[in-house]
Order: sequence, then C-alpha cells, then structure tokens
Amino acid sequence: MWLNGTSELIELLKKRGAKRVALQFPEGLKRRSATVSAALKDAGFEVILSGDPCYGACDLALDTLTYADVLVHFGHAPVDEQPEVIFEPYPMDFDVAVLENALPFLKGDPVGLVTTVQHVHLIPAMELFLQAKGIPCSVAEGGGRTPNRGQVLGCSFSAAKATGAKQILFVGTGIFHPIGIALATHSRVIALDPLTGSAQEVSGDALMRRRFAVMEKARGAKNVGIIVSTKSGQKRMDLARRLASLSPTAVIVTMREVNPDELLNLGFACYVNTACPRLAYDDQVRFPVPVLSPQEFEILCGVRTWDAYTIDEIE
Ligand code: SF4
Repeated sequence: MWLNGTSELIELLKKRGAKRVALQFPEGLKRRSATVSAALKDAGFEVILSGDPCYGACDLALDTLTYADVLVHFGHAPVDEQPEVIFEPYPMDFDVAVLENALPFLKGDPVGLVTTVQHVHLIPAMELFLQAKGIPCSVAEGGGRTPNRGQVLGCSFSAAKATGAKQILFVGTGIFHPIGIALATHSRVIALDPLTGSAQEVSGDALMRRRFAVMEKARGAKNVGIIVSTKSGQKRMDLARRLASLSPTAVIVTMREVNPDELLNLGFACYVNTACPRLAYDDQVRFPVPVLSPQEFEILCGVRTWDAYTIDEIE
C-alpha cells in the first residue's frame, strides 16, 4: 500500500542530495522493510536498515547517521525537532461508516474526537460523518509531541484534553490509549476499533486498582532506581533529578531498553520509570519488583496527594 509513496520519498531524498539512506521501521511495519529497501536501492541509494526494536518516534536510530546522510523513520510523526530525519507517515485507511457502531454509546454532549497517527488523515471524514448524524464534534489542533490534528500518543493525551469535551471518541486499536484518555481527562471515553468495528465505553478504574496495589508493594522499599531512558525522545533527566532528590536511597539509572532481567541484575527494591510511560502501566507483570510512575513515587514520598493522581505524560 505505502509503496505508492516511494516515488515521492525518492524525489525528496534526491532533493536533499542524499546518497546513503538509513531506514527505520517500527515493529508493526518491519516486514515492509525489505521491499522498501529494494526500491530505494534500485533508485541508486546505498541503504542501511536499522534492525533494532522501535516502538515510536521517541526512539530514533540516530546512530545510523554515522553511516548515512539521512534517516527515514516510517510510521510515526515527529515528537521533537530532528533536522536529519525524514518522517514518513504510513496511513491506514478504513471506511468511516464504521463510526456508526460507536453512536449507541454517545450521549447528548458534544464529542471530542481523537485517533492515532496512522488514522489522522481520516479525521476530516470522521468529523463529517458525525456532523451528518447531528453530533457536534470537536477536534484539537496539533502541537508538541502530537503535531497532527486530533492525534494522541500513549504518552500525550493533549489533543483529548484540549477539546474540553465531556465525552471523547477514540478511534484506534488497543485499549491503552482510551484508558489513558479517561485518566487524563476524567471524561467518558468511547473506544472504537475501526478494524474490528467493536465499540465500548472504557474506564481507568481497573488500571487504578492495579496501580494502587503496585504502590502498596513499593511502600517502604529499601532503595529506589530512577530509570532515565537514553532514547532520543524519552530522556527526562531533569524530572529524574527532581525525583531522586525526594529520597536519600534513590539512584538515577540510565537505560536504553528497560527489561526485567536488567532490573533484576541491578537489584533495586523498586524503580521509578521516567522512560516511556507505558512501561510501568502495561508491563508491570513482567517486572520482578514494583515499577512506579513519577506521580506515584511523588505520592509515596508525600509531595503529591492521592487526589492529584494522574497518568504520566511526556511534555
Ligand atoms: S514514549 Fe512511549 S508512548 Fe510515547 S511515543 Fe514513545 S513509545 Fe509511544
């Protein structure tokens, strides 16, 4: 499907005078890498493919620029300024009539509409669909880590908050984004999977219960590792330093990949995650000890109240 866009990419690369081109695909698109590499090689470029795992534009293979003139990152929009990187979207279509399945869940209030990067090109069509059904709809402009109109990330729900809507319609796959939106906005959240057509109202309550249990386990831990990612768009050293100042037993730990074996080897009784927020929320079952969000650690340290509990987002 995307190969229709290859010729435009080739033109762009030629305009930049690139000869050596590094390519990076996220996990879900890696299978396309051989085909795209072949097309660029045929066009006369030397191609270097990053084979490391990649889950977002926060994790750019900037090391490949040692060998290449430019890095092409597929499937994500930029989360920060990167002049040597071309961000190549990978839009995924669906028939917006699938929004019909969400209508029974929507109440009278205006709807805030959000989606993930692969579907942002369909935002105007989705707005028209809802308006044609008589449903007032609000979409936030892009900005910061989410440059596209109506776009949310697992670490940024600004586009949902900015609508100010009491009910949010999230169109996309997976359950993490809508749960995050529910916790970040305190609005009703309806999640519609445009590929399966299934719609449901989503609440953050179950995640909150799990997180409280993790916090109880972490209470009184004899030492704490404050994890700082070395990935390009996840580094939050200032935050880590502020968190480390809250406990005499806290030590800042830099890591590229946060995995259970490494946490076990390091031997801390508990960790605070300032890397991708999803690590703590999604992956706790994999970790040998509690991994807290920054806000949860602040609560345990007594500098944040329970009422001010919020989901972690990267500014
Ligand atoms: S930090 Fe996590 S949620 Fe945010 S863009 Fe990166 S992988 Fe996605």
